[in-house]
Amino acid sequence: MLGSLHSLACLGESNAAIPGETIRVAILKNAPSVTVDGEGIIAIRENGSAVALSPPVLIRYGRNSVIVDGTAYRRLTFAGSSAVQVNGKPYRGVAEVSPGEKGVLVVNELPLEEYLVGLINCEISSAWPMEAVKAQAVIARTYAIHKKQARSTSFYHLESSVIDQVYEGCEIEDSRARRGVTDTAGEVLRYGDAVIQAFYHSNCGGRTEASEHVWGRHLPYLTGVDCRYCLSSPSSYWDQKIAVSELEERLKAAGYKVSGVTDIRAGSRNSRGRLKNVMVISSRGESSLPGDQFRKAIGYSVIKSTDFTVKVVNGEAVFSGLGNGHGVGLCQWGAKQRALDGFGYDEILSYYYPGTGLIKLSDIR
Ligand SMILES: [Zn+2]
Repeated sequence: MLGSLHSLACLGESNAAIPGETIRVAILKNAPSVTVDGEGIIAIRENGSAVALSPPVLIRYGRNSVIVDGTAYRRLTFAGSSAVQVNGKPYRGVAEVSPGEKGVLVVNELPLEEYLVGLINCEISSAWPMEAVKAQAVIARTYAIHKKQARSTSFYHLESSVIDQVYEGCEIEDSRARRGVTDTAGEVLRYGDAVIQAFYHSNCGGRTEASEHVWGRHLPYLTGVDCRYCLSSPSSYWDQKIAVSELEERLKAAGYKVSGVTDIRAGSRNSRGRLKNVMVISSRGESSLPGDQFRKAIGYSVIKSTDFTVKVVNGEAVFSGLGNGHGVGLCQWGAKQRALDGFGYDEILSYYYPGTGLIKLSDIR
């Protein structure tokens, strides 16, 4: 938290290119309570009437309701004169607080273009070359629109974590992030007439992955391309050591019936060089786990990709890998290097998503 009111207020002009296009992002789930604050904040209940609540407002989870000072509400919508602070973080647009399955659910509804400005520095750095920032703006917009179309009947469109796109509100907006968004205002990637599923990742480690290897679904613009561009980045290479006993616990916690694990071995590789499966040798014999499931069970931030070698030495599994992320679609570090090499954002995008083109959202509605 930067501390000053100026930083909390998300100052700056709003340049929403498509005023009607909004997005709904789940910014907090399953929380026992949440605190909402902000300058000039107002609260509206589900029937549209205003509620007099003095900020900061502490909202607790109740069965089928949210509770403030002993009064139960089905939903409270908060808006401020500049930004709404949710647990101290400022967000543009409104914050809707309602009861979720296991706790308070907070959904931030805001103009799509404002969402993108806040997102840039969560996903990359706006200090990267502008063509890479613009490429990030286009794929984040494309990803969001595709999700909005797919989840049009859902209560919200996007998660705010790596499950969808990392988004932490407007606190880390800056002028370069805004420029990347406004210079590409309303632009999305299409394949034929459809907005594409613009998957992307941090670092492919040399070759991007085909979508069917990760999700079992072939998409003609996600078949994988060579990408040596990211290999100049230190983030291409990772090493990790984990005690075999710890690894066994994580596999058990993920539902795998293993006990007395003695060895972990790389299995076969797919055509893009990533592991199709990982062999786990235990007192029950040898088990084969799909590479991406192994990665999920141990932790995405621990096993950064499925392109790795592994050996067990003195009770420790020693991993050495390439890349960071699932590898499908645009490689962010590769895009950065391509921008440094002088390519435009349109060229960068058509490289990572072959056969696609740019179109304005306003031209497809
Ligand atoms: Zn790459």
